[in-house]
Amino acid sequence: MLAEIKDIASTLAPRLIEIRRHFHSHPELSGQEYQTAAYVAGVLSSCGIHVREGVGKTGVVGELSGEGTDSRLLAIRTDMDALPIEEGTGLQFASRNKGVMHACGHDLHATVGLGTAMVLAQLGEKLPGTVRFLFQPAEEIAQGAQWMVEDGVMENVSAILGVHVFPSIPAGLVGIRHGALTAAADDIEIFIIGESGHGARPHEAIDAIWIAAQVITTLQQAISRTQNPLRPVVLTIGQISGGRAPNVIADRVRLVGTVRSLHPETSAGLPDWIEGIVANVCSAYGARYELNYKRGVPSVQNDPALTQLVGEAAEEAWGSDRVLILTEPSLGAEDFSLYLQYAPGMMFRLGVAGKDRLNYPLHHPLFDVDESAIVTGVVTLAYAAWKYWGF
Ligand SMILES: [Zn+2]
Ligand SMILES: [Zn+2]
Repeated sequence: MLAEIKDIASTLAPRLIEIRRHFHSHPELSGQEYQTAAYVAGVLSSCGIHVREGVGKTGVVGELSGEGTDSRLLAIRTDMDALPIEEGTGLQFASRNKGVMHACGHDLHATVGLGTAMVLAQLGEKLPGTVRFLFQPAEEIAQGAQWMVEDGVMENVSAILGVHVFPSIPAGLVGIRHGALTAAADDIEIFIIGESGHGARPHEAIDAIWIAAQVITTLQQAISRTQNPLRPVVLTIGQISGGRAPNVIADRVRLVGTVRSLHPETSAGLPDWIEGIVANVCSAYGARYELNYKRGVPSVQNDPALTQLVGEAAEEAWGSDRVLILTEPSLGAEDFSLYLQYAPGMMFRLGVAGKDRLNYPLHHPLFDVDESAIVTGVVTLAYAAWKYWGF
């Protein structure tokens, strides 16, 4: 079966590159993937796959069943949205949508999703069970997975697979990570509320700017002294505002930031931990505070059995020297984790670095991929899917 899958995929390669370039030159922002979704739906329908549009707002779901009787349903998720970035690559098929760019490889993901669907559709009745293809919108704003789940895409799903490109891994290689792949990412907003006064008479006021500085410093130091160093926490205050004039003590400061962690237990304790520090620093100096802790997406935790399945599929397909066991997770976030609240899943990293060029990071205006990775992704996913029912 592997040889057959590889054959079909390499025959499809030129068409897949065309599709990827089409997506690349017509990027759409999160939640506005209308043309991309219509294109995806068109390709799926042309393969005889049952399609539902408008799932999770602008998402698309395709479903394909063989004649096998295995009742386990496998979902394969790819995403479709682009970023508000002005493309600088100068490629012939660069973005025609000013200020919008596929700088996170979601053009390639959607193509890999379609390629996998095309391959599995050609296997037709030989398929032992049902595959559900999820083409998700709005990953970059961490909303799309939630929208898809609310529209029922995880109903009856037994397992889910996903893929993300990785610019520091050479094209042709597949990156496998056991356990945590990405971090939980939450948003915080803190208001420090003091009392205004004359800049020359600090003792008659409560200086919210100075107390905000203490809060930030204490939070950073507390990570090193009170969090388990083997369980990373990253807290970044990315925005700070407050104050009115050089000689007026500020009565109100707003701090906004992101909090990242890898371990579910660490993540669970973070709101109380932050609140304790903010409350104590404020109370020491007579200030009040308001804390809004907004949960974002959880950490992607790869399921052990599915990780083994994808690892084995990739090894059989490409040889063990082209399968990279990733020793480190990323503190980036990925809303694939939301699906994992409903079924076990696995996301692998797909190498897209080219040999003879500079490789720019994700979300960079010069980000580019080696398109040979498309076939690597398609074969890996299609073969892992095939193996799933016999695993
Ligand atoms: Zn991204
Ligand atoms: Zn991405």
